[in-house]
Formats: sequence, structure tokens, C-alpha cells
Amino acid sequence: MERKRTGNEQRSPLKLLIASGLLALLFVLAGVVLFYSNSQSLKSANQWVEHTEEVLEALHQANFLTEKLQGAAQLYAANREPAIIRDAEGNTKALQAAAFQIGILVSDNARQSANVSQLSICSASLALTISDAPPDVSASLSSIEMCQEVLARMAQQEQDLLKLRRQRALHGSYAVTVISASFAFVSLVIMSAMFVMLARDSLSRAELGTAAVHANEALQRSVQALEHNVAEAELLSAYRDDLQLCVELSQVYASAGQFIARLVPGCSGTLCIINNSRNLLEEVLRWGDGGNEETTDIAVFHPNACCGLRSGMPRWRYPDKTAIHCAHFEGPPPSRYLCIPMSAQGETLGVLHIACEDELVYLTLQQRLSGMREVVQLTAISLAAITLRSKLEHQSLRDPLTNLFNRHFMEVVLNRELLRAQRRRTSLAVLMLDIDHFKQFNDQYGHAAGDAMLQGVAKLFQTNVRGEDTICRYGGEEFVIILPDIEAQIAFRRAELIRNAIANAVVALPNGIVGRATLSIGLAFYPTDGETIEALLSKADQALYNSKRNGRNQVSLADHSQIGHTSG
Ligand code: GH3
Ligand code: MG
Ligand code: MG
Repeated sequence: MERKRTGNEQRSPLKLLIASGLLALLFVLAGVVLFYSNSQSLKSANQWVEHTEEVLEALHQANFLTEKLQGAAQLYAANREPAIIRDAEGNTKALQAAAFQIGILVSDNARQSANVSQLSICSASLALTISDAPPDVSASLSSIEMCQEVLARMAQQEQDLLKLRRQRALHGSYAVTVISASFAFVSLVIMSAMFVMLARDSLSRAELGTAAVHANEALQRSVQALEHNVAEAELLSAYRDDLQLCVELSQVYASAGQFIARLVPGCSGTLCIINNSRNLLEEVLRWGDGGNEETTDIAVFHPNACCGLRSGMPRWRYPDKTAIHCAHFEGPPPSRYLCIPMSAQGETLGVLHIACEDELVYLTLQQRLSGMREVVQLTAISLAAITLRSKLEHQSLRDPLTNLFNRHFMEVVLNRELLRAQRRRTSLAVLMLDIDHFKQFNDQYGHAAGDAMLQGVAKLFQTNVRGEDTICRYGGEEFVIILPDIEAQIAFRRAELIRNAIANAVVALPNGIVGRATLSIGLAFYPTDGETIEALLSKADQALYNSKRNGRNQVSLADHSQIGHTSG
């Protein structure tokens, strides 16, 4: 609908223009015809005026002849000179010739033709009178007077005609002037209208052009914004995928630094995480060139030092906005920076700080603020998830009192190590350890002291095994230690080492007292004592039973023949 109207709007000035052009052409043609016909009438009127003037001149000449003849008649009457008669005859002939000439000139006028006939008669009569000998002077004078009367009448009539024809010529010239003026005026009006239409058309075209340029610019801007959004969405999606693969906090930090640098190229900043006591934030990540190292040096600070953390919202700091700076800078603070608090499940985890001294980086950061907030949100969720997972893992794998692996995890490790030993054709030792007379210890020192002893024993285990060995609390005051890829002799010596370490140790208990303990140990080997978890544990338990039965504080092998030796 809009497009159609625009098309009509574009076509109508053209139609109007063509119509006005045709109208102007018609008007010009009509004007030319009218002008031509009026010019012709004016020309004709002027010719008639000239003709009348010619007639008047002829009448004037004829009258002059009659006056000469009148004078000659009066002179002849006085002196009767024959020469006068000869002159008079000549003038009479001239008068007749003039009458003939006048007759030709006024042939189109009936009244004047009748007058000319009278003039011819008078002049003929005069000629006859003059030819008499002697001529009758009074008769001649009478004829001359008659001729003069006729000439006077004719002159009067021609004067009337001249007046009339001059008026006609004048009217004709007026008409031509009026037509010319009207033609010029109307032409001017039409040309002005055409000029106005053309001007409006070109103005509206210019406006349309400007509007098209603006629309094009707006389109380019939205296309750019769309491209940025798409790029940002792709980046965030890639970041999400990356976070899925992270199993450690350090991996999340590294990934965050990399993606933030890609989201806002050229920026630099730090990620600070709050500690377990929630009284300090520690820098865990720094990316970008850091600009002026002195100004962005954030290491450890109190949560209150960051305005963003205090307000719980992203906070821009730039000179026009606020003069208040965060207090977590060791050197002079940067003039422009952004602090985005990081929280998940209602708990503050840290803050992302971005410095943007560079104008371009600052503008990019403003455009990408929502993306940056999402990065922070994703990072927070990922950090929270990994922390929770490791907590749960710890809880599900570890014994809370001793922090040793629990029985469930012992089975997992034993299973894995047995498979590995089978595949590599190596041996494996399983130690089962039990604190001697622990019930008695509890009874003597109390349950809390018993717990402290269990913790002390667990620590001593940890200092007397290899990195690849796994120590588990099997239950109560019983423990299992798995020693993969080990010879029987060495395993036995290791068991002795542990037994000795416990026997010789003094463990600090609550209330400033110290305690001692001994261990009985049973030892079974894969594959000689068994090839399954159950078989190995059973053999180790039997060996432990032997240690107890033989007096405690000793190591017993499930298969004595292997080393042929026990101690106690
Ligand atoms: P034996 O030398 O034959 O092993 O004698 P024992 O007293 O160590 O063995 P017994 O099985 O009779 O007693 C085990 C004691 O260990 C009973 C229980 O009170 C104590 N015990 C088990 N788990 C804990 C614990 O988590 N904390 C404390 N304080 N004591 C525990
Ligand atoms: Mg026991
Ligand atoms: Mg015991």
C-alpha cells in the first residue's frame, strides 16, 4: 500500500508536467493565430488610412487647380489677356485628369464615385465654357465653384473616413498589444507553475534521496549490530561448550580469560575470587597486556574495597560519571574501568575487573556489556558447579574423620588396580591394618581422644606410603592400604615400616595428653593369594587375624611360603 502510494506520488508530477506542457503549447499556438489575424487586420486598417490620405492629397491637388482657375478667371475679367485662357485650358485639363484619377481611387466608394461624376461634369462644363470665344467668365466661375463644392464635400467625407479608419487601426493596435500582453502573462503563469512543479518534484526527489540515504545507513547499522550479536552469540556458545569440558577451577579461569579477550579485543583485566572465610578476594586470573601495570595491580583485597561488590551490580567508573574509585588498586587507579560482581545461587563468588583506558576498547566494552555479563554469569555457574562437584566427590570418596578414602572408593581403586595388574602382569599387595586394643584406648581416654588417635594414625600412614599407594579407612579402627606394582619383599618391608612408625609415634590428644598405639597388619598378594577383591581381602583379613592371635603389633602374610618370615 505504502509502495503503491509512493509510486503514484512519483507519477503525478510527471503527468501534470506533460499536461502543462501541452496546455502551454496549445496556448502558444492559439496566441500565434490570434496575433497573426490581429496583425493582418491592423495592417489592413493602416492601408486604408494611407489610401484615404492619398485620396485627400488628390482632392487637395484638384482643389488647388480650381483655386488657380478661379484666380485666372478673375484676372481675365480684369485684363482679357488671351494667355490667361491658354493657362486656364491647361489647368482645366489637369483638373479633369485629377477627377479621373480620384475616380479610380474612390472606385470602391459609391458615394464618392457619385461625387467624382459630378466633379467630372463640372470640369467638363468648365472646359466647354473656357473653349468659347470669348469665354463666359461668370459661367466659368460658377462651374469652378461647383467643382470646389464637390471637392469640399468629398474632402469632408474622406476626413470622416480617415477618422473612422484611424480609430479602427488604433483599436487593432490595442488588440494586438492586449493579446501580446495576455499571451506573455499567461505564458509566464504557466512557466511559473511548471517551474514550481519541477522545483517541488526535485525537492521531493532530494528529500526521498536523503531519506533513502538515512534508511540505508540505519540498515547498515542494524546489519552490523546483527553481525555483532551473531558473533557474540557464537562466542558465548563456544564458551559454554568449553566450560562443559572444565573439571578444575583453573581450567575455568584460563577459559574465561581467553573468551573475554576475544569478546572485547584489546581489553585487560583480572578475575578475583572470594576465599572460604569470605573476607578476602584473591586474583586468580589476569589477561590482556594490563596496560599500565602499576595502575591495574590487584592482588588481594577486602570485599568492601570494590564498589561493584558493595552494590552487587556491574559498576562503570569513568570521569564524567563519578569521582569515586574502588580501593582495590595498589597504584593510581585507571580512569575508566568496569567491575562486574560474580555470584551464583545467591552467593558472591568474586568480581571481574576490566580496565579500558583505550577509547576503542571502552566503546566496544559498552556495546558488549550484556555479553560480558553473560560471560560472568556462565563463569560463576561453572565455578559453583565445579566447587560443588568436588565437594560432593570429596564427601562421597573420603572419610570425614580421617580424610582417608572410604571403603566404597577402596573397592573402586582395588578393582582398577587389579585390572591394571592383570593387563601388565604385575603384582599387587593389600594390607589390612587394625589398631590393637582400641576399645580399651577409648575406654581409657574417651571417644574424642580415640578420634584424635584415628586422625593421628591416618597422618602417619600418609607419610609412610608412596604416591601411587591408596590408603582407605575400612571401618572403625581398621584400614586397608593398596600397594600397586610391588614385590612381596618390598611390600612386607613397607608394612613393617608403617607398623614401626605407628608403634614409635606419640600422638597428641585433646587436653594436652599424648597417646600411643600399635597396629596388627595382614598382607595378601595378587595373584598368589587370590585374583579377586573378595579373595584378597579375605586373605588379608585372615593374615590380620593371625597377627592378632600371635600377639598383635606385627605383620602377617597370607602366604607364609613367599618370604618365609613374619615379625612381631
Ligand atoms: P583388638 O586388638 O582385638 O582389635 O581389640 P579392639 O578393642 O581394638 O577391637 P574391638 O573390635 O573390640 O573394638 C573396636 C573399638 O573401636 C570399638 C569402638 O568403640 C572403637 N571405634 C570404632 N570406630 C571408632 C571411631 O570412629 N571413633 C572412636 N573413638 N572409636 C571407634
Ligand atoms: Mg577391629
Ligand atoms: Mg582393633
